[in-house]
Amino acid sequence: MSNECETKKTRVQARLPRKQGYVPRFLLDESPITEVHAFWIAGMSCDGCSIAAVGAKHPTVEQLITGTIPGLPKVILHHPVLSVTAGAAFMKAFHAAKNGTLGAPYVIIQEGSIADEDIAGKFGGYWSAMGADPETGQPIPTAHWMRDLAQGAAAVIAVGTCATWGGIPAAAGNITNAMSVMDYLGKDYLSGLGLPPINIPGCAPTGDNITETVASVLMFLAGVGPLPEFDELGRPAWMFQSTVHQGCVRAGNYEEGKFADQYGQKECLVELGCWGPVVQCNMVSRGAIGHNGGCMNTGGICIGCTMPGFPDAFAPFYKKPPGTLVSSTISRQTGSFVSYLRKFTQRKGNRTERWQQDREVPSGWASVNGVTPAADKFVGFFYDKLKRMGTEFTPGSARQKELQKSASHYLAKGPQTAIAAE
Ligand code: SF4
Ligand code: SF4
Repeated sequence: MSNECETKKTRVQARLPRKQGYVPRFLLDESPITEVHAFWIAGMSCDGCSIAAVGAKHPTVEQLITGTIPGLPKVILHHPVLSVTAGAAFMKAFHAAKNGTLGAPYVIIQEGSIADEDIAGKFGGYWSAMGADPETGQPIPTAHWMRDLAQGAAAVIAVGTCATWGGIPAAAGNITNAMSVMDYLGKDYLSGLGLPPINIPGCAPTGDNITETVASVLMFLAGVGPLPEFDELGRPAWMFQSTVHQGCVRAGNYEEGKFADQYGQKECLVELGCWGPVVQCNMVSRGAIGHNGGCMNTGGICIGCTMPGFPDAFAPFYKKPPGTLVSSTISRQTGSFVSYLRKFTQRKGNRTERWQQDREVPSGWASVNGVTPAADKFVGFFYDKLKRMGTEFTPGSARQKELQKSASHYLAKGPQTAIAAE
């Protein structure tokens, strides 16, 4: 009785503070860092990475900027398109960070490659700029914002292939001498957290790759999570260690030597120019937005957009990769045999033991042949032997028959007799 009273009391007490406007707190909320500014700088970009980021679901941008993820500091996002302030009011925080008067830690998120402003400067212009110099009134190149803010940043995160490797603006020709963040900052650069630039490639990257990496870095910054694992090029290792092919929904077709010869077909797209077997990207397994879509899932080939060599190393996109000649020829030959074996196993898996014994499938949906073909019986004999080899599992063995017999006796006695006997 007293226990019951205690329980009731505890429940009432637990409810009371909420009525008084109690805001639940988690242990993880105790981090000394409650807010982190994120300065989004756009260089030579198409804004596709911004679009990708706002489509992220796990976590969403809204969760990051409202601070609703336990343990994670609230993100104060300064984005040239998404922020509600504009002009001088918008630029105020950038100037404060540059002058060291922001009063809170910050990270830089760069979208787009960084052009060589010395080239444009010779003509009195600029390639990409944001805000105006308070003394001269002249536009401030975004490259200079990166130069000035990088020194005090907790982390520099390059988002998209233009920012991570140079991308399309840095392709052959490159009249602006466009380069990546790591090219611009150099190999000796380390952020306040002691990290070289973090790279999330993709044209555009999966939105979740962007927000998940930002969240992981913030957790480390707040002291509530380990430093995420990055590979030798600064990519989040868990996102970029596998190839597209390894996670592709069409990989089974490749293995069985089944290839599409035109768009819209469901087979492997390698002969239409897919580079998936060599490209590191999780787009297909993760999906473009909300785990839906993503290149091969929607019928597109992989053009290697996450790779440092993109676009030149994978162009022309309409031609199949030369290595395909060897791999798809081998795959065609071995695949036809693999495909036969799988079809055989599938046929067997589509029949119950009863149907096989009756040699009939009682389906009203269609006429199904219940007779096992002689070739299947022959292959099945050896297949079953191999399947059970090294185990004690043998259907129809003397031991199984013995067990079945005792079970039959039990059932034959009837339920009441059997229970009474126990
Ligand atoms: S479509 Fe591309 S990634 Fe998918 S199985 Fe074929 S080659 Fe691999
Ligand atoms: S699957 Fe290929 S084309 Fe698609 S996002 Fe990944 S790297 Fe780019």
